[in-house]
Amino acid sequence: MTTSDNDPWLLTPGPLTTSAKTKEAMLHDWGSRDAAFIETNKRVRDRLIAIAGGDRSHVCVPVQGSGTFAVEATLGTMIAKNEKTLVLVNGAYGQRMAKILDYAGRAYDTLETPEDTPPGLDDLDAALKADPALAHVVAVYCETTSGILNPIADIARITADNGRRLIIDAMSAFGALPIDAADVPFDALMASSNKCLEGVPGLGYAIIRQSALEGCQGNAHALSLDLYEQWVAMENNGQWRFTPPTHVICAFDAALDQFEAEGGVEGRHARYAANCKILVDGMRALGFETLLPVDLQAPIIVTFKMPADKAFDFQAFYDALAGRGYVIYPGKLTVAPSFRIGCIGHLDDTVINGALDAIRATLKDLGVASGAP
Ligand SMILES: *Cc1c(COP(=O)(O)O)cnc(C)c1O
Repeated sequence: MTTSDNDPWLLTPGPLTTSAKTKEAMLHDWGSRDAAFIETNKRVRDRLIAIAGGDRSHVCVPVQGSGTFAVEATLGTMIAKNEKTLVLVNGAYGQRMAKILDYAGRAYDTLETPEDTPPGLDDLDAALKADPALAHVVAVYCETTSGILNPIADIARITADNGRRLIIDAMSAFGALPIDAADVPFDALMASSNKCLEGVPGLGYAIIRQSALEGCQGNAHALSLDLYEQWVAMENNGQWRFTPPTHVICAFDAALDQFEAEGGVEGRHARYAANCKILVDGMRALGFETLLPVDLQAPIIVTFKMPADKAFDFQAFYDALAGRGYVIYPGKLTVAPSFRIGCIGHLDDTVINGALDAIRATLKDLGVASGAP
């Protein structure tokens, strides 16, 4: 894999490195009523439903913007003004959903665990049994704050067993970690164009159970974020209500071709898992420690604890790596000082090994003997 024009490799949670083919798909202009564009838009939506295993039960409703726009639109559309929600929090993205509910004026409770700890399943069951007013559970599949894999299938089962409805932020998981609507009951799942499906940023979408969405007219607190109206309009004439991100959608279609050629979720997961293993093994050999044990680590983004060596300065480390063509990401944890390195995007073992070479050389330049925390 090579980047075009010597762009840096983005080892981040997004925006991510995309392929030349995906970028090239944008070298045209399309009218919003153009038949070819309408067909592409429909194909992209159908392919996203298929990835979620929702062909018979779910619809895909896209919305302009980054992933958060899709999360905000989905929560506002699916949760009625008088309904109460339980938000599972173990990082910034769970917290963000609680904040979205504050803005939308929806009542909620949180069930919070530390950033390196998945939600307690017995606690979830108990919370749902204790409060009959809770109508929805909202959860994050891979909490990108730490890179932790939350047990979404168990969360879904407990939520369904208690007769409640589940909404999943699958932003950094969808396309690389399996989810099948036939086995994992959910009312809505949100993701975006630019994470594991490797499109360019600018489009969010929700995969929504049609029977649930049909009852959501009038829930939304914002016109442009009303996914019920967005869905009805798009079903009517195949068009978007407001200016569609045409280039983003056509690039996404090309990215989905490459996703399918790679073997779908299984193929994508295999490449990211290989990236993650090479990265973690290589960093451990330099003394670094991961925040998470292997069984909680999703192959999406890895949190490393900040080295104790006095010569280590994160900004200098970051700048030197960027100078060598590798962009990493600061940590966002409250439990420990840390930084993150992503495994996702159009990256393979050659890129990760290149990043490890750059890290080794940078530590030497900085006079850091070990990455040990
Ligand atoms: C990236 C991400 C989002 C959306 O972030 P945007 O910056 O709005 O694209 C939401 N949830 C999770 C878990 C994410 O990783």
